[in-house]
Amino acid sequence: MSDVVDDLTRWLLQRLDWIAEQPWVDEFLTEAAGLRGTNMARWPLVDRARPLRGHTCIRCGGTGLMLYPPSSPGWPIAILCSNVQCGHSIPEDEWHQITERLEQYRGKRSA
Ligand SMILES: [Zn+2]
Repeated sequence: MSDVVDDLTRWLLQRLDWIAEQPWVDEFLTEAAGLRGTNMARWPLVDRARPLRGHTCIRCGGTGLMLYPPSSPGWPIAILCSNVQCGHSIPEDEWHQITERLEQYRGKRSA
C-alpha cells in the first residue's frame, strides 16, 4: 500500500504546475485536505496525549490524569492532572514507580 501511495504522490508532484492550472484544482484541494484531516485523526504520525483511565490524582482524587508523550526524542513524558484547580504533575520516574507497584499489587491479587 505504501508503494502505491509513494508512486501516486510522486506522479502528482511531477504534475503540480499542470494541476494548479486546472479548473477543478479548488475541488481537488478541498477533497485532499478533507482526506488528510480524516486520516491524520485516525492514524496520527505522532503520539497524542491520552487519559490514564483507572488512575486517580493523589492530590485531588480526580480521574483526569493525562499522559503527554515526549515532545522530542529523549525528553520525558509528562503526567498531569487535567483538573484546572489542581494541575498536579507527576515526574516520570515517580510515575514508573507507581505503575510498577500497581503491577506487583495486581500480580499478588491474581496469584
Ligand atoms: Zn488532581
